[in-house]
Amino acid sequence: MNAIDALPRRRFDCLVIGAGGGGLRAALQLAQADVHVAVVSKVFPTRSHTVAAQGGINAALGNVLPDDWHWHMYDTVKGGDYLGDQDAIEYMCRVAPGLVIELEHYGVPFTRLENGRIYQRMFGGQSQNFGGAQAARTCAAADRTGHAILHALYQQNLRAKTHFFDEFFAIDLLRDAAGNVFGALVLEIETGEPLVIEAKTTLLATGGAGRMYRTTTNALINTGDGLGMALRAGIPLQDMEFIQFHPTGIAGLGILITEGARGEGGYLVNNGGERFMERYAPQARDLASRDVVSRAIAVEVREGRGCGPNRDHVLLRLDHLGAELIKSRLPGIRENAMRFAHVDPIDRPIPVYPTAHYIMGGIPTNRFGQVVVPEHHGPEEPVPGLYAVGECACASIHGANRLGGNSILDIVVFGRAAADHILEYLADNPHARPFPPAAAEPALARLRRWDRTGEGESVDGLGEELRRAMEEYCGVFRTQEVLDQGVAKVVALRERLADARLTDHSRVFNTARIEALELENLMEIALATVVSAAARRESRGAHSRVDYPARDDIKWLKHSLFFREGRRLDYKPVRMKPLSVDSFPPQARVY
Ligand SMILES: Cc1cc2nc3c(=O)[nH]c(=O)nc-3n(C[C@H](O)[C@H](O)[C@H](O)COP(=O)(O)OP(=O)(O)OC[C@H]3O[C@@H](n4cnc5c(N)ncnc54)[C@H](O)[C@@H]3O)c2cc1C
Repeated sequence: MNAIDALPRRRFDCLVIGAGGGGLRAALQLAQADVHVAVVSKVFPTRSHTVAAQGGINAALGNVLPDDWHWHMYDTVKGGDYLGDQDAIEYMCRVAPGLVIELEHYGVPFTRLENGRIYQRMFGGQSQNFGGAQAARTCAAADRTGHAILHALYQQNLRAKTHFFDEFFAIDLLRDAAGNVFGALVLEIETGEPLVIEAKTTLLATGGAGRMYRTTTNALINTGDGLGMALRAGIPLQDMEFIQFHPTGIAGLGILITEGARGEGGYLVNNGGERFMERYAPQARDLASRDVVSRAIAVEVREGRGCGPNRDHVLLRLDHLGAELIKSRLPGIRENAMRFAHVDPIDRPIPVYPTAHYIMGGIPTNRFGQVVVPEHHGPEEPVPGLYAVGECACASIHGANRLGGNSILDIVVFGRAAADHILEYLADNPHARPFPPAAAEPALARLRRWDRTGEGESVDGLGEELRRAMEEYCGVFRTQEVLDQGVAKVVALRERLADARLTDHSRVFNTARIEALELENLMEIALATVVSAAARRESRGAHSRVDYPARDDIKWLKHSLFFREGRRLDYKPVRMKPLSVDSFPPQARVY
């Protein structure tokens, strides 16, 4: 008997791995169409990171200022420094208004204008009329938009009878040598028992990987598990060099102060009280794109104009906005500032510094959410029945730098699009493929590896070293020398992890094994990130090379693909042709 036959097994039409906004929006569409769908989540669904989104979701509704989806599209292409695929971007911006209204109908309690319409705030990188005056495009439920959206989607899924496996950890995809995927091996966290979930289609929606950095806005759970699973299944990761540093994390802690705080009129000052963004982005000032503001803060601090005894941060002023506005529109921000920075923004500024926030790269997909891989350097082919959406995917709408408010949009737009495609796929392929027992071997081997205990290096210590290394060698500003050192450092850490052990004591707790599995994923992703960054010899969006300060569209207007096997890089063209409108060709990017 094969090891796999001894394991309990469940069968579904679709397995969704991840219960954030991306996974839940997809699952809802499927359950409503009577598809037998399972959602696996390592935390209770409403604790997924989507819950932490503060600022809001973009859609050209034009409720506060005039707006148009073409302008949204232009801003997104420009914000991504022309690396985004324009067919996917057009699709997202065009359907955005309808999806926000749909969320409202699902029960999201958006903040209202006097006339009853959905409130929209100003966010970074938004313009009217293709680069003109500031737009107001971000639909908000106070500063708790993600919370409201995630809870509404979860409740709708309960109503549609989606089957949830709460607190189950996905270890690896079940796959054969030809690359077919049959579901996943998962672990029930409470009991430590493995379970085989067999499915005709599998959707990865496991979110981001901000936990590879020491200071980050991301929750402890954002360890990029789906990206690790994809790499181990032979699927490359796209554009991993592009990591977004959010300009306003609480200094030293990384806890997010939403861009909405600047959208409501807040601004940054240095130790001379100067509103320094006026020098870096004369028109957009504090609402320039995130990469631009993060670099400006880093330069101010580096050149000695930082605040505090160590001159290591700048200040975000909100005190001129008035207590009433802060209490009604930014209540969560005020709470976080008081609790973590010990200042009440009603009368004192918040100390802030850039912090790792979002990964623009991920599992390569097309605009239907299908995972696509290059066929032996030939054209791209979808992997049959395998999909990815949300922060773990790269469609690529965010290009080299994501605009605030576009990620919550991304997850609902492509969650729905992937589900629609899955419905078509299931109609054409109603029968499950035969499941070869060998399909589970790699996943089982991975699990067995962490049964070994005894003397050896501790997993915890290695995690700490990795997070420091990424901060030091792959941060806001990069050079060849430092990146090359970073590659060597991560390679060495990854080798040490292969020999690490769980102590006898920690084995008692299943969570220690989960943390080891998560760290394995983080190591893979960190390596993909630093290798891709070392290879890209230009500055574009969030990837800022001191030694190659200019964007180079002749050599580098292309997506990178990192393969685990041999640490190989490949490249593919950017899709510059939209679906129905004219393309936005690369231009100098000024704010
Ligand atoms: C603090 C903060 C504020 C933000 N604010 C905004 C904002 O205002 N506007 C905006 O557009 N974007 C914002 N973002 C970004 C945005 O929230 C995220 O990119 C988006 O919510 C990701 O959604 P997701 O569905 O891809 O994944 P997530 O919501 O991260 O969910 C991932 C899911 O995968 C599950 N999972 C992961 N690994 C496994 C595994 N091995 N086994 C089983 N389950 C697994 C998790 O349990 C979870 O359910 C913010 C991000 C942060 C961190």
